[in-house]
Amino acid sequence: MKSEKLATKFIHAGAEPDPSTGAIMTPIFQTSTYVQAAPGQHKGYEYARSQNPTRAALETALAVIENGKYGLAFSSGVAATDAVIKLLSPGDEVIAAADMYGGTYRLFTKIFEKFGISFKYVDTTNAENVSNAITPKTKLIWIETPTNPLMNITDIAAVASISKKAGAILCVDNTFASPYLQNPLDLGADIVMHSSTKYLGGHSDVIQGALIMNDEKLKDQLYFIQKSCGAVPGPFDCFLVLRGIKTLHVRMKQHCENGTIVANYLRKHPKVEKVFWCGFTDHHNHDIAKKQMRGFGGMLSFTLKDSSTEAAMKVLSGTKLFSLAESLGGVESLINHPASMTHASIPREERLKNGLSDGLIRLSVGIEDAEDLVEDLKQAIN
Ligand SMILES: *Cc1c(COP(=O)(O)O)cnc(C)c1O
Repeated sequence: MKSEKLATKFIHAGAEPDPSTGAIMTPIFQTSTYVQAAPGQHKGYEYARSQNPTRAALETALAVIENGKYGLAFSSGVAATDAVIKLLSPGDEVIAAADMYGGTYRLFTKIFEKFGISFKYVDTTNAENVSNAITPKTKLIWIETPTNPLMNITDIAAVASISKKAGAILCVDNTFASPYLQNPLDLGADIVMHSSTKYLGGHSDVIQGALIMNDEKLKDQLYFIQKSCGAVPGPFDCFLVLRGIKTLHVRMKQHCENGTIVANYLRKHPKVEKVFWCGFTDHHNHDIAKKQMRGFGGMLSFTLKDSSTEAAMKVLSGTKLFSLAESLGGVESLINHPASMTHASIPREERLKNGLSDGLIRLSVGIEDAEDLVEDLKQAIN
């Protein structure tokens, strides 16, 4: 039975009993090659860089959970991003969000600029800025919403219509929202990208990336890049992400609930200056978030009234439940200092220009008991 209800969809996505044994879970096909009956006579699997049954089950699941036709899994989120940029040729232009994951910015500026692709960074929270930046050379628009770490919201449908008019491809990094909260393809995006390392995996035990799309030609091009460049995930990692997807809805529900509690607690704290969480009605573009997302998630950032790096450092090293680490989206809560950790690859002037101050603290609110999480932040801030 095919259901559009998220809980049913996430649990059954891509799950077919193994035809040879009836195993309810797709086995980990730890193999590099497949025996052929005669040259060219095979069962759809030739060599595991090109096809693997565990990966195939995951790729089907990825398509299902993002309401797309096709899914492709990569060895990391940045490998998925890398594949999208390889659709382009020297001379092509990309319009990218000014505020996005540091590793994406690094890949664009440090790797791809030298191959003759140019990147224009604009504040995409106002879709008009995207429209103004379009030139005949614009081939790709890259956005992230909500953004990391300031939770800036971009109107996906508005950018999709601008992109369509310009004949460009719109790719949305949907890592922060996860398919539980937002489905960019439904809003007109051409490609959805995920760092499956985060909410899809959900247990901080795997590095992986994903692309999902509807257009067959685009899928063929990206599949060609996937097998030609070889950034494919191993079968065990595919198994872990498949397993993670089965509980995405219950985890996300709790991330949202805990995120709401922590965001509201911090907002009322006398030592806290500002909390960046897209669930607040006065958060910039909250109306758009409300329109395009089903909830507001467990990612948030905040600054202290004492804006010194020293004061932030005290909180960062003072939490006991929130572990000081990069990454996000796991069941356990993490605390992070973007300026010196996740976003250190962005030059300080660029960071400040985008509102990412030295004192900013980012939280990935996990699914532990919310009262314990609040208690932990309380003792660390006080
Ligand atoms: C982590 C992350 C990436 C990169 O993914 P990896 O799996 O670490 O390669 C890209 N975008 C966002 C928003 C991320 O959080």
